[in-house]
Amino acid sequence: MEIQKLKGQSAIITGADSGIGKGVALALAKAGAKVSVNFVHNHEHADELVTEIKKHGGEAIAIKADVSREHDVLAMFAQHLSVYGSLDIMVNNAGLQKDAKLVDMTLDQWQTVIDVNLTGQFLCSREAAKIFIQQGVRQGVSAAAGKIICMSSVHEIIPWAGHVNYAASKGGIEMLMKSLAQELAPFKIRVNGIGPGAIQTPINKEAWETSEALNKLLTLIPYKRIGQPVDVGNLAAWLVSDEADYITGTTIFIDGGMTLYPGFSDNG
Ligand code: NAD
Repeated sequence: MEIQKLKGQSAIITGADSGIGKGVALALAKAGAKVSVNFVHNHEHADELVTEIKKHGGEAIAIKADVSREHDVLAMFAQHLSVYGSLDIMVNNAGLQKDAKLVDMTLDQWQTVIDVNLTGQFLCSREAAKIFIQQGVRQGVSAAAGKIICMSSVHEIIPWAGHVNYAASKGGIEMLMKSLAQELAPFKIRVNGIGPGAIQTPINKEAWETSEALNKLLTLIPYKRIGQPVDVGNLAAWLVSDEADYITGTTIFIDGGMTLYPGFSDNG
């Protein structure tokens, strides 16, 4: 019999109508958590996911919010609490790219990526932490008062020419995550990062949609396959479970070896 590790808990997953966020929402729901599927534009996809989760016996609602807007974030948390009454898990997943060479990058391209990828994680972590601190440890539900996952990237540590806004946002997430982990550990709140490599989602479509592009991408992946949202979902479900209760303040890379400097595999 499958044990539902997250039974009795609830979660907000941002940007859950697509890609990795969808994979995380499905995995958390499978593990027994009630989930809020955040979306900003695609209400239809969010509703489809809610229906899919319910079809498998889970509980889910869709909540519209732009994570870079404080007012939207506050309203999202209020809606989650009004439906589920508590919060145990926050997954800061929403993110985007606005790529350009440095000399061509507009302030708007820079600012949009920082606002969504970094400020969005700050706003959602802050609101989640307020709830977790007030709630404290819920005996019989979880060993921790709350768990936060910051979706980072291998670009937390691998520089990325032509994407300085994105790489800076992910580098920023590392120190946001670690500083939050340090500040919140005394409240029994765990904060960790997940650093995906190449996962097959719409954000990086041009890197896998033709066999030529995919073969080029695979030269960067020692394990020789592109990752899937379910890979990240399974990791997230475990990382927020009590099996990972002693883990806080660290990024787990899930990248088929992309961070192993594959260029050196043949003597450099
Ligand atoms: P995706 O484009 O499929 O999903 C991104 C999601 O974020 C979408 O649902 C989008 O609507 C949402 N989003 C964008 N702006 C938003 C906003 N202002 N408010 C709320 N939601 C917003 O891409 P993905 O690959 O699933 O990306 C998810 C996360 O994973 C991102 O943080 C991304 O940086 C990270 N990541 C992805 C990869 C990869 O290879 N796919 C690798 C490393 C990190």
